[in-house]
Amino acid sequence: MNEFDLIRRYFNVETADHTELGIGDDAAIVRPSPDCDVHVAVDTLVSGRHFFADVDPAALGHKALAVNLSDMAAMGAQPRWALLALTLPRVDDRWLTAFAGGFFALARQYGVTLIGGDTTRGPLTLSITVMGESPRATALCRHAAQPDDDIWVSGQLGLAALALKHHPPGPSAPPADVLAACRRRLEWPSPRVALGLALRPLAHACIDVSDGLMADLGHIVARSGLAAEVWLDALPTHPWLADRRAQHIDCLAAGGDDYELCFTAPAHARGAIAALTPTCPLTRIGRMHAAPGTARLLDSAGNDISIGRSGFDHFQDQA
Ligand code: ADP
Ligand code: MG
Repeated sequence: MNEFDLIRRYFNVETADHTELGIGDDAAIVRPSPDCDVHVAVDTLVSGRHFFADVDPAALGHKALAVNLSDMAAMGAQPRWALLALTLPRVDDRWLTAFAGGFFALARQYGVTLIGGDTTRGPLTLSITVMGESPRATALCRHAAQPDDDIWVSGQLGLAALALKHHPPGPSAPPADVLAACRRRLEWPSPRVALGLALRPLAHACIDVSDGLMADLGHIVARSGLAAEVWLDALPTHPWLADRRAQHIDCLAAGGDDYELCFTAPAHARGAIAALTPTCPLTRIGRMHAAPGTARLLDSAGNDISIGRSGFDHFQDQA
């Protein structure tokens, strides 16, 4: 099978609304809605670094797109288009069928059209570019947090990191049902797209938790020129982890791969934000402060908790 057969067999799709020209030409042509800004983001997943080489290919197709949709969610953007750059060691029909199945199921769920990509041979690597749109000047940006804003987070934190920590499961692993729930979160993350859209008129700043809560909140803090306090006891998580907070601070506050949204909003928006809970659970976890500083994690007595490494950094070992 040559490159063109591969694209035709696994990745060809009908063009949809907002797409003037899809796969098959030198470039795709998109048609954004009137008075909208276009958002563009790219994320790369490398075998052995971001996923285990033996991962279920359907889960991988899902996750590769989900992490990109999560970036759109964090901006308050409506995702519309995606490009897929695929580097494959070989053509494996079962693998590609399952991968495309996972990818397109999620794409359909969110109305995203695959408009192009690139296919090369080499060590398994996936790079997805996603594009979305939002009405002009309504995007949720990292620099827009205000002093005294509440800090909120969606869903539950630390599950994906717990699954990663116990892969493969050893003697200290959590019970099988807990580990299974955590693995599902690691492998099949749900991008919070509906929440991101609903937050446009309510939130000031927003980020998705991909590298760990304190590291990601740290980006809002730095870009906004403010400080933040986060309450360890308030962090929402799985009941098994909630009973063992002190032993799992690393997963809760610095664990990556959750793809929840962390956002700041004024206190007067509390009621409207609480009303979004049917979309997904939302928890108030801290507060922004005026003077430029850092994001601090506090225990119930108000003491600082040091978490050492506050998030994942690919180049942290490099001098
Ligand atoms: P070019 O040589 O102009 O880069 P390619 O031969 O790489 O074109 O690709 C041909 C068409 O197939 C292009 O429209 C490209 O966007 C699309 N394409 C290539 N690889 C993929 C892929 N993995 N997924 C979706 N579309 C792809
Ligand atoms: Mg090409």
